[in-house]
Amino acid sequence: MTAEDHPAEGAAAAAARRRTFAIISHPDAGKSTLTESLALNARAIEEAGHIHGKAGRSATVSDWMGMEKDRGISISSASMQLEHRGTVLNLLDTPGHADFSEDTYRVLAAVDAAVMLIDAAKGLEPQTMKLFNVCRHRGIPIITVINKWDRPGLEALELIDEIREETGLDPTPVTWPVGIAGDFHGYLERRTGDLTLIRATPGGRRSAEEEHFSAGEATPEALGLPELADAREESELLGASGADHDQETFLAGISTPVFFAAAVRHLGVPRLLDALVELAPSPEPGPDAEGEPRSLDAPFSAFTFKIQSGMDAAHRDRLAFVRVCSGVFRRGMTVTSARTGRPFSMKYTHLAFGRTREVVDVAYPGDVVGIVNASALRIGDTLYEAQPVEYPPLPRFAPEYFAVARPADMGRMKQFRRGVEQLEAEGVIQVLRSEVRGTHVPVLAAVGPMQFEVVDHRLREEFRSSAKLEPLEHSLARATDESSAQELAGLAGVEVLERSDGQLLALFRDRWHLLGIERTRTHLRLDPLVAA
Ligand code: GDP
Repeated sequence: MTAEDHPAEGAAAAAARRRTFAIISHPDAGKSTLTESLALNARAIEEAGHIHGKAGRSATVSDWMGMEKDRGISISSASMQLEHRGTVLNLLDTPGHADFSEDTYRVLAAVDAAVMLIDAAKGLEPQTMKLFNVCRHRGIPIITVINKWDRPGLEALELIDEIREETGLDPTPVTWPVGIAGDFHGYLERRTGDLTLIRATPGGRRSAEEEHFSAGEATPEALGLPELADAREESELLGASGADHDQETFLAGISTPVFFAAAVRHLGVPRLLDALVELAPSPEPGPDAEGEPRSLDAPFSAFTFKIQSGMDAAHRDRLAFVRVCSGVFRRGMTVTSARTGRPFSMKYTHLAFGRTREVVDVAYPGDVVGIVNASALRIGDTLYEAQPVEYPPLPRFAPEYFAVARPADMGRMKQFRRGVEQLEAEGVIQVLRSEVRGTHVPVLAAVGPMQFEVVDHRLREEFRSSAKLEPLEHSLARATDESSAQELAGLAGVEVLERSDGQLLALFRDRWHLLGIERTRTHLRLDPLVAA
């Protein structure tokens, strides 16, 4: 059942059948593996590791840049659409590398729920916590998955305690593992006491085998499974402490339902698909910049959360990814850009994940549409049909790395400027300027240092204009205003610059430098930026 199968479906009805989410995790926790397993178990791909496009072209899930291949990490991000039990699942990809974070965080502005993936042997890791904090900031409900249960790891109860302590959420396990980490027999359904025994198929390429037992049938004696007695005991212990799933507190970001899985063998993954359908919220009327919700059945509207260029050599173009917020998207429709007031034709639109592309004809709230050659679009832009609306700006994250950028070859100044402008519009880097430095000498500001490498690579490859980057000693930025800016600019080691959205930023060497100034000059306006 895809969007096309319901041509007459209204936007609100279609939205009710949709779940739009992302997986947040630390590198190596198994995000790619889980993504592939979800797709396999929802029957969107035939074999783990390969996604098949309509044209029959097979492509691996990640990598679009040579650099990405060299490092073995995934930088691009887009979305994948799956279908499970009549519900459409939109999985938005988040690049996993710690340094390339701004993009990842922006994706979280386009989802309604997140799956927090934890490695059973490692517990909560730094990148998971950073992403979790952004989710909490935005009030995104979180489903927790403890992965790699097929391998020795921490004790289940220990992990539950750690989640509570580190995140402040109430963990409410929905399933409970039978067998310790490394000895995964199956799981109990805590609410009913039913048991699912699971067995990986040889080689793990196809989905796992599952056998279901009612609570009455599932006794340790009847099944010759002593581990089941321990699992029941622990589950009851959790019940006594009130750790049972509650939909209301989950949606309010107070509790998190927990599931156990071994994604590499597809164990517990079908249960997670069911959970996404049953528990994750469907798209709701989004508040516009004034806080007014726009009805799902209102005319089409969407916002741009990601722009990506040159996804591969065969498609050297610029894709803008928009999330539909209201109404029905139809290919070829003409919409208006809220920022420029200009009409915009949606003739060339795709669903995209990695290198696979399929033309989208119809899309509904919660869906992601990739618009080809959308050079007029910027990150955060709202598009609408008929009834004007503008969605709130996407959060800009606090940069911690700063570098002055100049073209290596002054003769290619024009290309250099165009390149910097383009990379900024895509949200690859933040660009700061000041009269002191001259407006043609931008300071690039990044959340992680790898963003500079991406800038350098793309300026060279796409604009034939290498950059000379000279790092600054600053590592901290605060938002300030005109009146404070003058005084700040006169202080040793402080530099004030203007971001392209007009926000003034004061840069400091480090926390101590900033603290010293804040202590003696309490009248200055120094607001924290959204922390990444
Ligand atoms: P990502 O960096 O989060 O995308 O992690 P990957 O999906 O690339 O997985 C990292 C490593 O962990 C790979 O070697 C996977 O095969 C392995 N892995 C992922 N899930 C599991 C699992 O459930 N069990 C085991 N034993 N290994 C896993």
